[in-house]
Amino acid sequence: MLIVMKQDATQEDVERVNEVIEKLGFRPHPMPGAARTAIGITGNQGAVDRTHFENLPGVADAIRVTKPYKLISKTLRPEKSVIKVGNATIGGDELAMIAGPCAVESFDQVFEAAEIVASSGAKFFRGGAFKPRTSPYAFQGKGEEGLKILAQVREQFDLNIVTEAMDEHGVDLVEKYGDCIQIGTRNMQNFSLLKYVGQTRKPVLLKRGMSATLDEFLLAAEYIMAEGNYDVILCERGIRTFNRYARNTLDLSIVPAVHKISHLPVIVDPSHATGHNYMVAPMAKAGVAVGADGLIIEVHPCPEEALCDGAQAMLPEQYFELNEQVKAMRELMFPVKETVAV
Ligand code: PEP
Ligand code: MN
Repeated sequence: MLIVMKQDATQEDVERVNEVIEKLGFRPHPMPGAARTAIGITGNQGAVDRTHFENLPGVADAIRVTKPYKLISKTLRPEKSVIKVGNATIGGDELAMIAGPCAVESFDQVFEAAEIVASSGAKFFRGGAFKPRTSPYAFQGKGEEGLKILAQVREQFDLNIVTEAMDEHGVDLVEKYGDCIQIGTRNMQNFSLLKYVGQTRKPVLLKRGMSATLDEFLLAAEYIMAEGNYDVILCERGIRTFNRYARNTLDLSIVPAVHKISHLPVIVDPSHATGHNYMVAPMAKAGVAVGADGLIIEVHPCPEEALCDGAQAMLPEQYFELNEQVKAMRELMFPVKETVAV
């Protein structure tokens, strides 16, 4: 069930509806929008009786939700969500560029990379301090020490830090040092972790599970939002197919599919989707062409020395060129509509 408030409904009207929902033993999720507020209800097993709401002041309609998701849905919030990440946003007019190395390796490597990313005008810096590696013998990341380096990057370069957490302890640390908690592909259906990040008040970058369907992906976001954290950014990073020439298959059709159903922003990661340096730029541009709200690009000052994902890392000059190209594409394909002041 979702309650759509009238355009002129007051804050008291909204609070009254919230109270009724809570009295029924459920949880209200008010979503203010440009034209009206809607209130999602979670915690109910079966249908909620609409007669509880239809005569309350300010209520326009009580709609039964037939889809498995509620809070991610455009029915609840017709306009796109613009998510605040540190001092910048994702999902607005500007293409969000999240760039940096795969992993935090050392202070010097991270600072060199940050200088590249900052000078490109990007507002977000990535780099993993906790690395989910296939082999237990591969470099696992520098943990809290790495997060401290990232926090210094924010101070020095005014970049917002996006970094992965793999477990609850990692979430606590990323909350402390970072600006956005990344949940990686391997954890997209780690439901207890999703609930845990849902209880934080830091934005979450949720990467698509490598074999997740659209519904599974959206329901993973729903898990986070059902806990009260509505700041979720989705990320397509490639899925497993029979393709052997790339690390994964970048499923770009999910971008318009998400935009059709959900108000959440969706970005594209052509680095992990392809695994090869020469494929990153073309697939990044393809991502922009289909309307992605941003990109994740791995860039390393010296890819041949990278401890992780060196084969897909862009060289600084390649990254600069791509950055200019995607910005130009974005302006050309999705020009910002001028609002005329009256
Ligand atoms: C990453 O972004 O560093 C990463 C490990 O990505 P994914 O979870 O998509 O593999
Ligand atoms: Mn990587």
